[in-house]
Formats: sequence, structure tokens, C-alpha cells
Amino acid sequence: MGSISEMEKPHAIFIPYPAQGHINPMMKLAKLLHFRGFHISFVNNHYNHKRLLRSRGPSSLDGLPDFCFYSIPDGLPPSDAEATQSIPALCESVPKHSLEPFCELITSLNGSEDPDIPPVSCIISDGCMSFTLKAAEKFGLPEVLFWTPSTCGVLAYTHYRDLVQKEYIPLKDMSDMTNGYLETSLDWIPEMKNIRLKDFPSFIRTTDINDTMLNYLITEAAAIPRGIAIILNTFDALEQDSVKPLMAMNPQIFTIGPLHMMQQYVHDDRLKHIGSNLWKEDVSCIDWLDTKDPGSVVYVNFGSITIMTKEQLIEFGWGLANSKKDFLWITRPDIVGGNEAMMPLEFVEETKGRGMVTSWCPQEEVMKHPSIGVFLTHNGWNSTIESISNGVPMICWPFFAEQQTNCRYCCVEWEIGMEIDTNVKREEVEAQVREMMDGKKGTMMKNKALEWKKKAEEAVAIGGSSYVNFDRLVNDVLLKK
Ligand code: UDP
Repeated sequence: MGSISEMEKPHAIFIPYPAQGHINPMMKLAKLLHFRGFHISFVNNHYNHKRLLRSRGPSSLDGLPDFCFYSIPDGLPPSDAEATQSIPALCESVPKHSLEPFCELITSLNGSEDPDIPPVSCIISDGCMSFTLKAAEKFGLPEVLFWTPSTCGVLAYTHYRDLVQKEYIPLKDMSDMTNGYLETSLDWIPEMKNIRLKDFPSFIRTTDINDTMLNYLITEAAAIPRGIAIILNTFDALEQDSVKPLMAMNPQIFTIGPLHMMQQYVHDDRLKHIGSNLWKEDVSCIDWLDTKDPGSVVYVNFGSITIMTKEQLIEFGWGLANSKKDFLWITRPDIVGGNEAMMPLEFVEETKGRGMVTSWCPQEEVMKHPSIGVFLTHNGWNSTIESISNGVPMICWPFFAEQQTNCRYCCVEWEIGMEIDTNVKREEVEAQVREMMDGKKGTMMKNKALEWKKKAEEAVAIGGSSYVNFDRLVNDVLLKK
């Protein structure tokens, strides 16, 4: 993977959807393209830009002459909160309020007198920010859409419209949530084997035909054919069956993941200080993990958006405590709301020495750590693919969006996960942790996870599918004159 000369420097402008699970993979792709000689402009909303400055320190966004950060408004009221912005509010606001500032930014970059800034040559937009296609049209730029969720999740979104047309959704009544209706099998979608309504991304769980998220995803999925290419953070051996049907909508699909593993090709120390975590990482958990035996720790993390009730938090806590296993439990301060994410003193006493609880960690480091035996996760796609590629089986507690679909694929198709009921009970947590760590099923899933790890390594190795696809993306799409 060589770099190209200064004379012909291409300039990619990145615009992620403003949430952690979208910014992270986008940043990884930006670093890869930078290493291939691209000038990078990375555009966050003001809110996340400020949070990155806070969590990583003022120099973290200084960038380099050819890796620059910008921020634009999202239309929501300014806030200094350390919490995730409302996803439906962002989906309503961003397309309306970010297009104009995004276009203004491109105009100013194109008109820059700074010799380090070449004119923008392509837009790499989040797949669910298709309003940016209007900017591409206005400036005559090619635009690639990067869908950061799983491919099975994206495929499910492309069927939302059919589900509405066939009157499966919206739900007739909220009682459909519990009366068995969600078990309905959708055998007319053969490319998603034995899929049920409940495995579809959670935005179908509405009785309102005008629901913001339902309609947002219908619109975004319909834009898939409009990108000059689609990027997916997955690898062929894992998701080929979901990639193929998407190719009917856009034949230019590039599976280039797992992107965190592709970072092995970024050999530029100057990029090391550029990170994308919105919370300050507690790195002391790595020292704590170093004191633990291989495969002995349950790692618990529900990502950046999941919220739960205080009761659910307490059930998880006592389930972990009663399993008698060591655990590293990451709970964001806003996972329940305010200071309510605190476990009782009794729990702290009971788990002293074998439990570490903190609010955010360097997850990629954690997942790689040999002490991790199982991951209790919400199945966000980044967490899921990080787990798969490190050979770690999962206990799945999907919260929202395509996490339900990821859970289904983990448990049934990839055979590396067990699901916990939404209405979580401590006995179930304890039993599943014990089964995963000591049971026969757990051993089978661990072995299967190790097989997937090997396949992920093959995909990103020189000549592997993701490696080759990335090369094709750069040479045949992004650098094509
Ligand atoms: N992450 C992290 N530390 C944490 C929790 C999460 O670094 O304590 C990272 C994780 O590695 C992943 C992202 O944040 O890249 C979360 O994305 P995911 O798709 O798993 O879930 P989301 O937060 O979007 O629900």
C-alpha cells in the first residue's frame, strides 16, 4: 500500500452521522485514506467536536496540515452535556440544518489560499446522511456512502418499505409487542434465513405510520443506489449472503472491514494522537485486566446510546455478582440518567477484587486482552465486529436499531451468541455467564468465535478480500478521473 505524490493530492471530505458508533469507523477509514495520500477534512457537528476536545484534550483535534477537523451546526440547541444527543431529534434536524453549512464549508475549502488544502475531490458521507448527496450534486463531486452498521442490518432496512406495503408495520397496537406478533416469520425474504419480525431493526416497533425513525430509515435505504459506491465495515466470509442482495441496488459495494484490523496498514505515528472517543477513557482497566487469568473475565459494555431502567441495571449487577466470575463493567454515567447508575454498597462489597466498574474504556484494547472470556453486549455493530474479530463469544442484550438483527445473526447464523431477555433477570444473567465461561455450549461458541477471528484475519491480510476491496475502492473509485 504505497502513497501517491503530492502533486496529485486528492481531498476526501468525511461527514459521519453524529454518534459514536458512526464517528469511530469513519475515522478509521479517514486514517487509511490519509495513509494512501489523501488530504482529509473530517466534519463533526459542533456538539461532538467540543466533546472530542474535552475527552481527548485540546491538541487532539489539531490534526496535521493534511488531516483537518471542522465542525458545523446540527440545528439542535447548544449544550455542554456529556451525554448522547437524542437520535430522533438529530434525524429530524440534521438534514434540515447541516446541508447549507456543509456546502459553505466545501466552498471555503475549494477557495482556500492555503497551499496545503487542495480542492475537495470526493465526499465520503455516512450512508444514513443522504442529504449530503445534494452537496455532491451542487459541486459535481462523486459521493461514496459509508453504511457503518452490519450488512444484515442494512439489508433489513432496505425491506422496511416492503413491510409497510405488506401491512406488517406499523403495529396495530402496542400489545403486538408482547402477544407473539413479533414472532411472525417473514419467509418471503429468503436472503434473510428464517427471519422474524422481532429480528428487524427496532424502529418497526411503532404504531405510528409517521414515526420519525421508521421514515428516516426508509428514506436513507432508498438512497443506496445514488452513491457512486457503498462501503461496508464487514468482511465477505461473514456477510456475503447479505452483501449479494444489496448489490442489486448498487453493484459498487466494497466490504473493507473489520476496519479496526485494517489499521495495521496505517504507518504514521503522527496520527496516533487523533482518536474519536467522546468519553474520556479509563485506561487503568488494562492494568487491572493484566492481573487476571486468560479467558477469566466477563466484559460488560452497552455502548454509547443504550439506556436502561435502574431495575435492569441492578439485575445485571447481581447476575454478575452471583456468577462469581471476574468482570469489567462499563456503565456510562447517563446509562440510567443522572447518578442513578450507581450500584448499592452491598454490591460493591460483594464484588471487591473481582469486579471493576468504570464509565468508559479503550474498548479495542480491552477486546484484544487475553483475559476476556465473554462479552455481555448490546450488539452495536462496532462492538459486535470487534468481538468477532477477537474470537470472543457474546451474551446479547440488544437495545435498539439494527442491534436486534445483529443479535439474531450472532445467535443463529454465526453461532457465537446467546440472547438475554429484554426483561432481564439476575438468575438468567448468572446462568448465561456460567454457561459461556464453563459450559459445553460456551466452549462450542468460543471455538466458533475463534474460527471467525481467523477468517477476519484472512480478510485483512495482504491479498485478502477486504484488503483487495480497499485497494479497488481507492484506485477504481476514489482516484478514478
Ligand atoms: N467504545 C469504547 N469504549 C467504551 C464503549 C464503546 O471505545 O467504553 C467504542 C467501541 O469500541 C465502538 C463504539 O465505541 O467502536 C461503540 O459503537 P457500537 O456500534 O458498538 O455501539 P453504539 O455506541 O453505536 O451503540
